[in-house]
Amino acid sequence: MCRRNSATIRTSGWTVQSLEVKFDILKALAADKLYIKKRTEYKACQTCAGEGILKVIPSSGGETTEETCPTCRGLKNLTSIIFE
Ligand SMILES: [Zn+2]
Repeated sequence: MCRRNSATIRTSGWTVQSLEVKFDILKALAADKLYIKKRTEYKACQTCAGEGILKVIPSSGGETTEETCPTCRGLKNLTSIIFE
């Protein structure tokens, strides 16, 4: 059994992704074709507590801003694909 975290895929913005992210996505696509998937597990992102966004409070005060969670990229969940 091989366990890994899949890369999250967004259809737009491919060119702005880092090489590392691109490589992870391509590996995920290859694994999806080559191996038999046992099951897929989803768990809420720990970084944003499943919100998909992070609230940023400026240290200088002022208004709280929201930014897309860098861990789940706003998808709210982390996906693990379990292979046989
Ligand atoms: Zn998150």
